[in-house]
Amino acid sequence: MARYISPEKVDYISQQTDIVQIISQYLPLTKAGKDYKTLCPFHEEKTSSFVISPEKQVFHCFGCGVGGNVFTFLMKWENVSFPEAVGILAKKIGVSVYKEDKDRGPKEQFYRINAQIAEFFHSQIKKNKIAQDYLYDRGLKSKSIDLFKLGWAPSSQVFLSFCRKSNLSRDKLKKLGFLKTSSQNGNDYAYFRERIIFPIFSFSKKTIGFGARVLDESLPKYLNSPSSLIFDKGKNLYGLDLAGEEMRKTKEVILVEGYTDVITLYQEGIHNLVASLGTSLTDSQVRILKRYVDTVFLAYDKDSAGEAVTIRGIDLLLENGLQVKIISFSGKDPADSVRKNGLDAFLEAKEKALSYMDYRIKIDIDNNQPLTLEKKLKIVNSLFFTLKKIKSKHILDDILRKLSQALKLSEESLRSEFNRFCKEKNKFSFSRTLKFEVPKQEEMEKRLLQIMLCDQEAIEVVKDDFPSDNFTHPLCRELAQEIFLCQNDEITPSYLINRTVDETLCSFISSLSFNDPSLQGVNIQQAAGEAVRALIRRKKQSKKEQLTLEMKECEQRGGEEEKVKNLGQQISQLQKSILIRERE
Ligand SMILES: [Zn+2]
Repeated sequence: MARYISPEKVDYISQQTDIVQIISQYLPLTKAGKDYKTLCPFHEEKTSSFVISPEKQVFHCFGCGVGGNVFTFLMKWENVSFPEAVGILAKKIGVSVYKEDKDRGPKEQFYRINAQIAEFFHSQIKKNKIAQDYLYDRGLKSKSIDLFKLGWAPSSQVFLSFCRKSNLSRDKLKKLGFLKTSSQNGNDYAYFRERIIFPIFSFSKKTIGFGARVLDESLPKYLNSPSSLIFDKGKNLYGLDLAGEEMRKTKEVILVEGYTDVITLYQEGIHNLVASLGTSLTDSQVRILKRYVDTVFLAYDKDSAGEAVTIRGIDLLLENGLQVKIISFSGKDPADSVRKNGLDAFLEAKEKALSYMDYRIKIDIDNNQPLTLEKKLKIVNSLFFTLKKIKSKHILDDILRKLSQALKLSEESLRSEFNRFCKEKNKFSFSRTLKFEVPKQEEMEKRLLQIMLCDQEAIEVVKDDFPSDNFTHPLCRELAQEIFLCQNDEITPSYLINRTVDETLCSFISSLSFNDPSLQGVNIQQAAGEAVRALIRRKKQSKKEQLTLEMKECEQRGGEEEKVKNLGQQISQLQKSILIRERE
């Protein structure tokens, strides 16, 4: 049976130890200001870039980027798992770590409740002809309803009575997002009511969360379980429990947007496919895919949002060395395409899928007609960022050649500009008027996180005005999520590291824990407020730019006066709110 160590015990053990004292048992340390320094044991080096902070109880190597807290250090040094590292440390300080097996962790209890409710919803759909017909109308077969355990969330009353009969804990139901409490009369009600239910399973087939869709056109169309101890939308892929084996075998995956895309294609015989559960791909999801496949075929929805999404997740895939291909299918989404034109047509489209760069060049050129020199530079500008992430020189050469042909620019000058771009840390030299905003955004987000890691109350300042979804850098978003999820706890870097299994995130947290001289002597809450305002202003600004571009395109196409007018109004409202914010 898997041994379980409670987070409280982990925290207790870390509170009882001093990272400096532990690491000094393994390495000679020298004092450097308020920190300690030594040669990094994890990479070859001649000057010390391995720093330990007694104040934050973390270490970080600024040479190779490894970092974390005392457990991370032991895991790396002794080459052991997290529970083993906890065990080693517990022994050193004479604490027993394992609880009785009967007291299984809260996660197990949550999985069990979710599974029980999934069964209940599934039994409800068997009694509901309308819900079944809705799925049949969309081409789903009854065996798929069983395989994916689709369900029906009944009325609030029926759900509450099921919970009472099954003796489910109200507190846990609230934590899992099944129950809400009315602010008017204080009564509980069901969060999912009269909706089709799509249970979401982890790779190991545990029921971790739910998606729910309305039958009619009412809004919101989809509801999801909120984040909980066992569910984080950005860290899972829908269908992974069924697709894993086939993905490993074929080294390929088809990535789609929605639940019904997965189910429809699966029942037609494509088994290596998953859906990202949100609007954009996250770093964690990409890392999951990388474990299984070399090539990712994207088949996202056809609407313009879908196209933007396509472009948003891709840099992450490329950075991780995955091949990316875009399937251009007919129909509004893959499910619709297969329903109308059959599986063979879809498979044919997959055969013809363009590599991402070919697709991107095509889209950029289509969207920038007529191709003036200025527009060509703009295209090159935006593509260089992506190109920089491509690891293979062979592929890169090929793309630069294609790009020069497509834009009728000399291949040689394009190549030398690209080399210069890489050397000068993303500073582009073709045209000074085109600015790059991306790195700055990332810096601002990191600073905001540093502020939050400094002071508990800064978190409260940020939480409401700048939710984690607003962060654009994937690691920043992930860390913000973690921070906001912790409630009523003393949130320190080391505490957060204990709650993440992700190495990259650990090092990211430790790197942010140093490197904050600019925050010394600053009013932290005020700094938090300022950083949030700056980021919100920036977000509005870029939204405004995006809408302006969209409006120009509409005007060029002509015949869309209503849409142009509407966009114009949105732009001027944004402009107003930017100005108001500035005056505050
Ligand atoms: Zn190192």
